[in-house]
Amino acid sequence: MRIKDVRVHVLEAELDQPFSWSLGWARTRTALLVEIETADGLIGWGESYGPARPNAAVVEAMKPLLIGADALAGEALWEQLYAAFRDHGQKGLPVQALSGIDLALWDLRGKHFGAPAHRLIGGPVRSEVQAYATGLYRREAGDPRAYLAEEAAGYAAKGFAAMKLKVGFGVAEDALIVRAVREAIGPDVALMIDANHGYDATRAIRLGRMIADLDIGWFEEPVPPEDLAGYAEVRAQQPIPVAGGECEFTRFGFRELLGRRAVDVVQPDTCAAGGLSECLKIAAMANAHGIRYVPHVWGTGVALAAALQLLAV
Ligand code: CA
Repeated sequence: MRIKDVRVHVLEAELDQPFSWSLGWARTRTALLVEIETADGLIGWGESYGPARPNAAVVEAMKPLLIGADALAGEALWEQLYAAFRDHGQKGLPVQALSGIDLALWDLRGKHFGAPAHRLIGGPVRSEVQAYATGLYRREAGDPRAYLAEEAAGYAAKGFAAMKLKVGFGVAEDALIVRAVREAIGPDVALMIDANHGYDATRAIRLGRMIADLDIGWFEEPVPPEDLAGYAEVRAQQPIPVAGGECEFTRFGFRELLGRRAVDVVQPDTCAAGGLSECLKIAAMANAHGIRYVPHVWGTGVALAAALQLLAV
């Protein structure tokens, strides 16, 4: 099954209501879909997480290595593409582009053999997973204590048993808002917080201690991804389990995060960390280190489907 063509699709839409997290505003949403066609007419779809146009440029740069190659030899192609860009791209854009390609090859493999990817891997190990609501961002107007409490209560009313709130807007303000959201949803709905690496260890530890009584499920990206010593400090000096990894890549990057026990929950993005092929390896490493794995997902239905195939095994 030879690869005939690789096409990129940049999706872009302006938002009616811009939203923000600790380090920035989103006024548009973008996504990059990767479409691979084989000579016998099968089409596979993948997705790359991250800035869509730069990701698309890297997929285009990888395309000559894919044309004419055996679409079923996914592991071999992964190694070839990674090796071709290794000297200048062990993290970030090249691995994101490679992830979208890897997922499209898994989709092709599934179509060729007439089975979903998780069946080809030997699953399912599970056929249901608990979802959590990601939302609770800041808006341009209004009192966040009021609108976030209302939004959180809305997710609980829809049946979500867990949700995630953005923090990183100042320790005192964060503490007030986390408390207001916890009061709005009651004690039985799981609540996680995400600072998008907006803090240093000192401030993250202060926040974690201030909200120690609010039963927070995890404290996501408290500090910048490069600061593994800071991660370890946050883990040691405040009581909330620490999560991170959406800005980490490949088995080689996660080797450091897991080996140094920097997190309690590791969060590779299937569309960024190296695709399904690589995330299976990272999952096995997390298992061997006794560290929980919850995929990061931020994209279209293709990203969600890829994460579900992984979660199934
Ligand atoms: Ca996050």
